[in-house]
Amino acid sequence: MHAKVKQFPSDRAVDNARQQFRNDQISPTYRGEWHLAFTCTLALAVIIGSSMALHAVQALEWLAVPVTWLYANFAEWAGHRFVMHRPVKGLGLVYRRHALQHHRFFTHDHMEIDDARDFKAVLFPPVLVSFFVCAFFAPIFAVLAWSISLNVALLFLLTGMVYFVNYELFHLAYHLKEDHWVHRLPGFHRLAQLHTTHHDPRLMAHKNFNISYPFTDWLMRTWDRR
Ligand SMILES: [Zn+2]
Ligand SMILES: [Zn+2]
Repeated sequence: MHAKVKQFPSDRAVDNARQQFRNDQISPTYRGEWHLAFTCTLALAVIIGSSMALHAVQALEWLAVPVTWLYANFAEWAGHRFVMHRPVKGLGLVYRRHALQHHRFFTHDHMEIDDARDFKAVLFPPVLVSFFVCAFFAPIFAVLAWSISLNVALLFLLTGMVYFVNYELFHLAYHLKEDHWVHRLPGFHRLAQLHTTHHDPRLMAHKNFNISYPFTDWLMRTWDRR
């Protein structure tokens, strides 16, 4: 007879963390669908608005798209590694939300949400999204528009927002039930598997910090494909 492999953390510890999060952080009026709609609507508004404002884009200006993509991929990796998994002064809310709540709610053995109310444990809260837009996008947009061109600033905004909403949708999808149709999309299960590995408490501060595409993880040797 095989000895039962002991899970870490135990089912009970995860159940308790989930119960506590649901009691303390999810109000009775919370609707996960509305939370997701807020994120998508904001991103779509910025994407459509910036696309419409583009005018006579020069060939070199299109370079802003791959450069922003690479920058966003690095920012995702660095933000996740150095801010979400370590308490940084002034950004404690991000650390608490991610390392102390998201990672206790989901472990590699318990990756699935139970229903749409659990979206709260995955998606960035609207207050943080608004903060990121003001603190991250706005100053870079202003500097690019002033120092290079308005088109480059708009392409930065557009690509950054596509990247952000891609991040949120992929992350949410990783935590949907494993028999959900998104997990059958070509290549998606492999990406989901990388995030499952990241949710192992023994690895979360060391491996797989890219949530979307593991380019910077590959570059920085923090890619774990087990
Ligand atoms: Zn996660
Ligand atoms: Zn993490």
